[in-house]
Amino acid sequence: MHPSKKWHGETLGKAAVEALKRNGFDAVYVEDSATACQTVLSMIPSGATIGFGGSLTLEETGLLSRLREGDYQLINPPWVELSMSREQRLPLRRQAMVADVFLSSTNALTLDGRLVNTDATGNRLAPMMFGPKRTILVAGVNKITRSLDEALDRVSSVAAPPNAKRLNCDTPCVTTGLCGDCRSKDRICNVTVILHRKTRGVDLSVVVVGEELGL
Ligand code: SF4
Repeated sequence: MHPSKKWHGETLGKAAVEALKRNGFDAVYVEDSATACQTVLSMIPSGATIGFGGSLTLEETGLLSRLREGDYQLINPPWVELSMSREQRLPLRRQAMVADVFLSSTNALTLDGRLVNTDATGNRLAPMMFGPKRTILVAGVNKITRSLDEALDRVSSVAAPPNAKRLNCDTPCVTTGLCGDCRSKDRICNVTVILHRKTRGVDLSVVVVGEELGL
């Protein structure tokens, strides 16, 4: 990455982290994926049960591989969910709601410290509010937006269409690359949650990484 781009990401990333802290979240800025992995692993006790919300970021940082090798009880890791039907996944996803630790990313993070996420099932969003003892979100600086409006636009314009493609959904955005506010049975944009402040229900940590990660 060009040094100027690195500087810009770091400057916005650190500003977002300070805003998240003002809103009651635990937050930290780290330079790269390797440090993000070390930081997240230091937050998870040995033997912990871990639930997952779908996230390309967790894969790209190398965190999934590290967890696979570690002394943890992984409830619904992506490589297990991939082999299952939607109906088969639900019981595991319910278990993941009450894991010791829940891991995912965020679709967008505003410079005033809000977290914006859209989901099909809601299993990725609920643990950001209540359920697990601790939820940890890992986000590249590409997820940072200047406003709530920009965050909502990012979710529907930047994140959702490629995520629908990644998940092999039969939705218009997979053809056009643009959101058509569809009524498809495969629609992945069924619920949007804006976390303005940390809820009382869960300890939520955000690890902001000075790289472009995920969608
Ligand atoms: S509402 Fe439908 S068309 Fe729009 S991004 Fe979501 S899945 Fe794609």
